[in-house]
Amino acid sequence: MDTSNKVILTVACTGAWPQKSDTPYIPLTPQEEADEIVRCADAGASIAHIHVRDDAFKASMDFDKFAETVRLVRARSNIVLNLTTSGGLGLSDEVRMRPFQELRPEMASFDAGTMNWAHTTIFENSPSFLEKLAVSMAECKVTPEFEIFDAGMIYNVLYYIKKGLITHRPHFQFVLGAPGGMTAEVKNMMFLHEVCEDNLGSNFTWSALGIGKGHLPIIYAALALGGHVRVGMEDNIFYRKGQLAKSNVEFVERVRRTVTEIEKTIATPDETRSILGLHVDSPAIA
Ligand code: ZN
Repeated sequence: MDTSNKVILTVACTGAWPQKSDTPYIPLTPQEEADEIVRCADAGASIAHIHVRDDAFKASMDFDKFAETVRLVRARSNIVLNLTTSGGLGLSDEVRMRPFQELRPEMASFDAGTMNWAHTTIFENSPSFLEKLAVSMAECKVTPEFEIFDAGMIYNVLYYIKKGLITHRPHFQFVLGAPGGMTAEVKNMMFLHEVCEDNLGSNFTWSALGIGKGHLPIIYAALALGGHVRVGMEDNIFYRKGQLAKSNVEFVERVRRTVTEIEKTIATPDETRSILGLHVDSPAIA
């Protein structure tokens, strides 16, 4: 299959932080999120990156909420599932890993380092956690998506590759514009891409997202450079300045229009599985 003109489009519908008071359109319950993911899949999204909330709609790694969301989506859609391992702060390693260990999505996020978050708290991904995460994801045949907030995080991934803990061809998600990480500027994205190329040649895949006003420049530059892209209310609740997105579908449709204009197409979930070399024998949850 020639996949050279395919763009993998990830949608992150919910995230950890936005509340209904920020935007009434954010899906928060498992049913709301599953419905939104199915709508995004119907509009062409390739991958759903999933967070869940607790009963007070706060950031959470509640296993039952993940299980329900995954069950509801799998019943209605073939979209690739990517579960977060960073759904809250200060949680135990076991709580962070249980959803992918038991639900076996094809992908899960791997935040490749620790950083100060918004000048208020620590986004903690300790060396011991990252080693455990690498080993467990390999055992579970869940492909890591290496979320890169800063250049040093790429070097952490390279270290684990050298150590033999990561054997799957790495797939990076450049997360630009998070408070405490690299800003959402095209020059930063190009630098991260260059670091990957210098160290891995063409033996990696990558995607990018921009939070805030860098959202569109990052998407357009990623597409121009041959990368994949992520959109969704986890990263941006505004469709454009002063205008809330009424649905994550709006973001999906905008990328689909853009991709079409540059003579590319959005990868279907099965094409995404092929491009990223995902394990397709993940057991379905009952
Ligand atoms: Zn996330």
